[in-house]
Amino acid sequence: MTEQLAILGGPRTNTRDWPIWPRPAAGALKALDDVLHSGRWAVSGPYREQEAYERRFARAFADYAGARHCVPTASGTASLMVALEACGVGAGDEVIIPGISWAANVSTVVGVNAVPVFVDIDPDTYCLDPVAVEAAVTSRTKAIVVVHLYSALADLRALRAVADKHGLALIEDAAQAHGAVYRGRGIGTWGEVGAFSMQHSKLLTAGEGGAAITNDPELARRMELLRADGRAFAPSTPGYGEMELVNTAELMGSNRCLSEFQAAVLLEQLDSLDAENRTRARNAARLDALLTELGHRPQQTSEGTDRRSYYAYCVALDPEVTERVELRVIAGALTAELGFPIKPPYPPLYRTPLYGPRTRPRFAISEEHLARIDRREVDLPVTERTQRTVLNFHHAALLADPEQIESIAAAVAKVTANLSALSS
Ligand SMILES: *Cc1c(COP(=O)(O)O)cnc(C)c1O
Repeated sequence: MTEQLAILGGPRTNTRDWPIWPRPAAGALKALDDVLHSGRWAVSGPYREQEAYERRFARAFADYAGARHCVPTASGTASLMVALEACGVGAGDEVIIPGISWAANVSTVVGVNAVPVFVDIDPDTYCLDPVAVEAAVTSRTKAIVVVHLYSALADLRALRAVADKHGLALIEDAAQAHGAVYRGRGIGTWGEVGAFSMQHSKLLTAGEGGAAITNDPELARRMELLRADGRAFAPSTPGYGEMELVNTAELMGSNRCLSEFQAAVLLEQLDSLDAENRTRARNAARLDALLTELGHRPQQTSEGTDRRSYYAYCVALDPEVTERVELRVIAGALTAELGFPIKPPYPPLYRTPLYGPRTRPRFAISEEHLARIDRREVDLPVTERTQRTVLNFHHAALLADPEQIESIAAAVAKVTANLSALSS
């Protein structure tokens, strides 16, 4: 019980290596080789009498998620930008976002010149609290961006009802939830748009990448134009060497396209997603049981979740522990025990140093607007509490074998049994 903590020079609880993420799918190398020699490296390149990988991935991912349309994008950030703009969000509109998430959720709202409205989260899922969302709706609210955070799905039924009641767009940020299912439907299909990231750390990745899915053909068309400089796919198959993307005068866009290399890798990686999600869920369930026994509370997901996906594993520590020793210190001690980063949550979006609208001249619009996007007064109690109590670690560790998974609970037991050594 009183074995010396690793951070103080004692033996580590786990001495083995952890799985490395990402893991290349079996067919990825061949697919890359095919693109390399295809004469087409981008969807904006000439047609080579073979369907672009970008088109193939779009179809495969739409099918996978159960959506009618998929618009691949260069990043998750790009997918959020095209989703917001396609839904008509623009200058001065208010967009409701959760108090805690990755910085992209505030930077994209400010990026379309709208006003982020930070709303508190549910204490068990760490996702938007629908009651708090409804209380934050004003006549200027245009959209809600709900984030399925870490391993939880938000209460989509309640959020969908709030959006419908007030005529708002619901955008699902599913950057951390590839493959999850809620009330019989794929995640990302409950909102007008579902936005995904395929950045290095995500459950499906090509290093960088993204996708926006929707069932609405008009939104799909707008997102397609927004992400390809206002170009759209030609209505009929072009001849060899001709461009497949053609100019339209419908909508000004930006280039936010996924390359053929990324699309080819994603198409292959998609084949491994379900099996990896199952492994992660099985190991998470084992850890849930062990940590609950120790008096801690693993992250919960909303009622109606049929299939959960684990981007990160989260647990709220017994408050008696975090009252004695600061979370950051416990995280450091666990990291030393395990040889794998155990982290406090993202800082609140209204406090993240990555949010700095005044650092970019394009945002220096007016003092009135700057005052509206100032966040210094924001203080959300549940968001703040998660900062003090919730630890998380990346899903790569959930691909380890059960014995190594158990070492995580053993490390938590060891550290919490030695709090006095940490506080002195
Ligand atoms: C990763 C992530 C993003 C941004 O995706 P990028 O591909 O890095 O631009 C947005 N939202 C959430 C919740 C994320 O985890």
